[in-house]
Order: sequence, then C-alpha cells, then structure tokens
Amino acid sequence: MSSAIYLVKGREKSLLRRHPWVFSRGIQKIDGKPQLGETVDIYSNQGQWLAKAAFSPQSQIRARVWSFEKEEINTDFFIKRLTDAQSMRNAIIERGGLTGYRLIAGESDGLPGITIDRYQDFLVCQLLSAGAEAKREELIEALKVVYPTCSIYERSDVSVRKKEGLKERQGVLHGDTPPDVVVIEENGVKIQVDIKSGHKTGFYLDQRDSRQLSMKYVDGKTVLNCFSYTGGFGLYALKGNAAHVVNADVSQPALDNAKANAELNGFDVSIAEFLNADVFKLLREYRENGTKFDVVIMDPPKFAESKAQLNGACRGYKDINMLAMQILKPGGTLLTYSCSGLMEQNLFQKILADAALDAGRKMQFIERFGQAADHPVDSAYPEGFYLKGFACQVI
Ligand code: SAH
Repeated sequence: MSSAIYLVKGREKSLLRRHPWVFSRGIQKIDGKPQLGETVDIYSNQGQWLAKAAFSPQSQIRARVWSFEKEEINTDFFIKRLTDAQSMRNAIIERGGLTGYRLIAGESDGLPGITIDRYQDFLVCQLLSAGAEAKREELIEALKVVYPTCSIYERSDVSVRKKEGLKERQGVLHGDTPPDVVVIEENGVKIQVDIKSGHKTGFYLDQRDSRQLSMKYVDGKTVLNCFSYTGGFGLYALKGNAAHVVNADVSQPALDNAKANAELNGFDVSIAEFLNADVFKLLREYRENGTKFDVVIMDPPKFAESKAQLNGACRGYKDINMLAMQILKPGGTLLTYSCSGLMEQNLFQKILADAALDAGRKMQFIERFGQAADHPVDSAYPEGFYLKGFACQVI
C-alpha cells in the first residue's frame, strides 16, 4: 500500500482544476511514512481520490502531481509523456529548422521538476524535485527507448535542489561525454553550445522566438545587446543587417563563444564588439559620455528568485530600463525582457512605464513577447508563463 495524503477541506479545488502542486499548508494528514520523492496518493478531505504525486518533505510544495489517472509511474508512463511532448513539438522543430530545443518543460509537459533540452544527439536533463530524483532510473530507461541514438547528460548542478533536500549533480547518464561545443541551428543561425559548463543546460532556448522577432528592428541600426551571453540577440542583429552591434556581458567565456558564433555564421565581426563589462556600470558610462544607440536589447538574468526578492527586483528592472531609455536616440527601440516568473506581465509593463517617466522620455509599447513555442504553458499551470518582453518605441 502506498502512503496517502489527505487535504484540508476545500484544498482539493486546485487539484480538481488540474493544478499539479500540493502545498504543505493544504495537508490535513499523512497516512504512512513516505520517503523523499516517494509516489503517494492524494485524497480530498472527504476521501475522494485525486492524483498520484511525488512527496517532497522539505519543500513548501509538499507534493507534485505525476498523474490525475490511477496509473503506475514507471518507464511506460515516462515513455508516454516523452512521446506526447515530442509530437507536440514536431511542427515547431520543422518550422524553425531546430537542432536544439526544449523537449520537456516540467509541469507544463506533465513532468514536474524535470527539464530536458535536446542539442543535436545530446539530451540534457535537470532533475529539480525529489520526485524527479526518485524516478531517475525509469526516466533514463524511457529516454533510451524513445531516443535510442541519443546520449544523455545531467546538469542538475542547480541550487533549487537544496530546497528539495537534494545535492547538486552533473555528469554522463548514458552514452558519450558531450564535446566542448555542440553546434545547433535555429532559424538558420548556428550556435555553439557548451553543454558541460554553459549556463542552465548550455543555452537560452527560451528566447529563440524573441530573437527572431527582434530582427525587424535592427536593419541599418546601431545595437547595444546587454547581457549578451553567447551572442543570442547579437547574432540575429548581424543577420538582420545591423550597422554596428555591441555585445556586453560579464562572462568572458560567453563573450569568446559569442565571437566564435559570429565567425561560424560568416557574419562581419568588424562591425561587432564583445565587451566584458558590468551592464549597470556600462549604461551609466554611456549616459555620462553621451554614447547613444538606435536599439537597446535588455535581457538580464532572473532578478527575483522568491517573493521576498520581488521589490528589489522591481527596482533593478526599473533602473536598467530607465538607463537604457536614456541612451536611446529619439525614436529608438528598447527590446526588454524579464525571465522572473514572479514578475507578471502587467507589473513589468508598469515598471517600464515608470522607467520612461524617470528617464524623462515619452514611450509607446509596440510589441509583446513571450517564451518560445517549445516552452509551452499548461492551461492548468499559469506559473509556467515566466518569460515576457516588450518592444518599446522611445521618443
Ligand atoms: N540574451 C541571452 C541570455 C542572457 S542570460 C541569450 O539570448 O542567449 C544573462 C547573462 O547576463 C549571462 O550571460 C550573465 O553572464 C550575464 N550577466 C549577469 N550579470 C551581469 C552584469 N551585471 N553585467 C553584464 N552581464 C551580466
């Protein structure tokens, strides 16, 4: 008999709406002694069976739903989830000519705590929850069945694992060790990905659609690409015939890779700069010395990891966006993004409006952006929508 969790009266509502999380405060009692990551049955206060979930004793999200059906959480279960996720993405992959894409986006693909990105024939996994950790063997078996020619590598070297009572892990799970660079292609742009030591699983796949959409703003323009990482937006700016592109980041390996990426695509690197600089300081320097751009791209790292950090994050977003607007030529374009899930689109819009006021500039929103199509949002799980952006015309 598996262990069972009974919810506080009324707390079944979100599960009946197929939201996949059970919070610690929603639990009335636990039958049995479930271990870290163990699969448990979830019941309402009245004893109605609701779901099978993975137990996370150390996290506020105390259980994450694997399934709303009475089914075994075994290799076959994972094969079905992987196959569904792959078929949902096939058209997207074909349309973008993608050899790198997100295969599993956690909760939104019915696999809470699991991220899997594919780069050519390397599947890179992040197991972020106790349940994902407990089912690692079944998941790996399923991946071998669905992708028999692929190697599997783990990049669970992320601090969120601590909240789940897990240590960081990294290494080969099956097949070959990834080479230092794997070249992927998206929308006709080639990108070198460092699977072993790049950020996240190696690349920011989630900005692919926004990178593509950014191209219409850059023809003949001077572009400042803040937080450039391995080139991303800067490569699309070169492809889109920008007059000059400054890429700025604090990571020298990322900048070296950005330059190599520009060369790999045969772009004219004489019109590109790869600047090792702290964006906060750089923007102030440009403001002081009067350097101006036609287009500024602002794609910073996550500023808010928790609700407690949200206020500070708002100030951070307002500050850099105000500075960006101040160094734009009249009629220039700011392409600005926030990947903090806690920062909702409306709030981000308000912050940008405040930034425009503080910058002393009139500003109009002319386009809205979201995460790329291989990062879907399950309708029952709105939290899955984390990446948003705006094109702002700054007058
Ligand atoms: N736009 C990129 C992804 C950006 S990720 C793409 O499309 O691929 C965020 C980047 O910000 C990382 O490369 C990190 O090195 C860099 N970074 C973090 N803090 C920074 C700072 N203060 N100044 C400059 N770069 C910073």
